Amino acid sequence: MTYDVAVIGGGMVGTAIAYGCAARGARTALLDQGDLSLRAARANAGLIYSQGKGEGLPAYAAWTRRSISLWPNFAEVMASAAGREIGFRQRGVLAYCLGEEELEARRALLQRMHNQLGGPAAPVHLLDRRALEAMLPAVRLGPRVVGATYSPEDCDVNALPLLRALNAGFLQAGGTHLLERTVSRIIPRDDGFDIASDRDTVHAGKLVVACGLGIPLLAPMVGLHAPVRPVRGQMIVTERLAPMLPIPGSGVRQIHEGVVQIGTTTEEGEVIPATTVADLARMAARAAQVIPALAEARIVRSWAGIRPMTPDGCPIYQQSPSHPRAFVAVCHSGVTLCAAHAGPLAAAILAGKLPDDVADLQPDRFDAHTT
Ligand SMILES: Cc1cc2nc3c(=O)[nH]c(=O)nc-3n(C[C@H](O)[C@H](O)[C@H](O)COP(=O)(O)OP(=O)(O)OC[C@H]3O[C@@H](n4cnc5c(N)ncnc54)[C@H](O)[C@@H]3O)c2cc1C
Repeated sequence: MTYDVAVIGGGMVGTAIAYGCAARGARTALLDQGDLSLRAARANAGLIYSQGKGEGLPAYAAWTRRSISLWPNFAEVMASAAGREIGFRQRGVLAYCLGEEELEARRALLQRMHNQLGGPAAPVHLLDRRALEAMLPAVRLGPRVVGATYSPEDCDVNALPLLRALNAGFLQAGGTHLLERTVSRIIPRDDGFDIASDRDTVHAGKLVVACGLGIPLLAPMVGLHAPVRPVRGQMIVTERLAPMLPIPGSGVRQIHEGVVQIGTTTEEGEVIPATTVADLARMAARAAQVIPALAEARIVRSWAGIRPMTPDGCPIYQQSPSHPRAFVAVCHSGVTLCAAHAGPLAAAILAGKLPDDVADLQPDRFDAHTT
């Protein structure tokens, strides 16, 4: 079977790109290992979040902001594809600070980014406790909360309905799911690529390698380079509670169905998506320090996912120097960047050249650092 584009990886990144290609009329195949696979995309916190993104790499800050600006319209398209709410809300996002040291660290981060970018990366406000209380008049904050940073443009969404919506939109646009396939070989041909899995071989004129932690194995077969390492994140979900948190926070967010999501961790080198008692206890204790009422909430579920993390934590996009019809895309903020991946990135891939926005997000930045 022959396609215009094949995307390897049905997580948040690959599915967004595949949807964007199919929606623009390209005959697109999405290849994925399927339900047995340990996707980070199924484990995430659903924040569309700009704070701290792009420290040392302004192009990442700008790309994040571009995606956030596209999100409101994109969310409508996704809800319509899914035929249901995807829980998108643009209410800003808070990052709570427990103790002066944390507030000072946030202040320093904002200042560094301001200096690097010659202005703010995105509007982020530093709130002291009084300003925070004024913003959340009905919320009883714990005594250790000294303030927060607040980014009014940031949003949140329910990640599983989003993933479902991307897949529904992809199929409605005529895309082809090739699931339960582990791609093991890519053979470059004059007119594209043969992509071989344990089930079959398909041919495509263009190729996008977007399979998260599977990238290091496949990318070199077509001259691409995107180093990623596993970083585990754990999450807790409470029972449904009466509305108590009108603004989502990083680490504590009430979704529109009422459950409160707590987390996450950032654990280097962990490849097993398991939760640990110590980490869950630490996350729960912190959430209860922010919002003491959460100490009474029942936990109904916890889970872990493994993120693909690049050496500097910023996304990597590359067009292969040796096989220019092949591209790679990876990031640990696949929800935040979803609108950009489905929009300008997919359009640029179809046009045969990465968008200018990501010119500084190529892997050659790692070579420069080591010379
Ligand atoms: C706990 C946690 C919280 C998170 N919170 C947020 C958040 O709040 N906001 C945000 O923006 N992002 C968040 N993320 C990250 C986000 O969910 C994305 O998962 C991340 O950006 C990576 O997406 P991905 O599609 O590259 O990788 P994955 O989701 O891991 O998907 C990779 C896919 O590639 C497939 N694959 C791999 N190898 C092969 C192969 N050889 N052949 C075929 N298929 C293959 C797998 O089956 C898998 O489906 C979070 C992640 C975690 C774990």
